[in-house]
Amino acid sequence: MNIKIEKLIKQFAKLPRVGTRAATRIVLSLLQDKTGKANALATSLTDATSTIHPCPVCGVLTDLEKCEYCCDASRKNGQLCVVRDLSDVWVLENSGVFHGRYHILGGTLSGVSGVTPADLNISNIASRIKEEEITEIIFALPNTVEGKTTQQYIISVIGENMGVTFSELASGVPLGGDLDYLDDGTLTLAFGGRKQL
Ligand SMILES: [Zn+2]
Repeated sequence: MNIKIEKLIKQFAKLPRVGTRAATRIVLSLLQDKTGKANALATSLTDATSTIHPCPVCGVLTDLEKCEYCCDASRKNGQLCVVRDLSDVWVLENSGVFHGRYHILGGTLSGVSGVTPADLNISNIASRIKEEEITEIIFALPNTVEGKTTQQYIISVIGENMGVTFSELASGVPLGGDLDYLDDGTLTLAFGGRKQL
């Protein structure tokens, strides 16, 4: 096989959920396409990687100084939803169940994987509570030991005396399940029936 083609296939095969077979199909389709797909992809990738960065406030990827959610005044409603990843924000946005601000941790605490509080985006939650007049923190973390541990840690760090209540999504989130496995109806029920902690 041509060494350039082989290199491309190896690069695509490293992407999440893309094995060598799928990578081969993608590369062949790009190289044989006559409509400029490959160049358009390369241009979009270069543009995105040079301009997209995490929002310094919440961690959502954006090409603005602050993300669209942090800039949206109508979202300053006192609610802050804490999630693990950006994909969780997209799931919640698509469901239309939440219209407040987000906070992306970038993972969950894990003794096994060696993820400590310093590895996560936790330290500025307290200042956000003051600056954005947050009254409720809603945890939408995975229903796992790691998710619960992370939740408990954040509650212990922020403390009870900041004038903020804590809640978590109601049952309906499957044990160990990620938000993106939930249909909109289940997510709406889990959000509406959230439990105060
Ligand atoms: Zn933001």
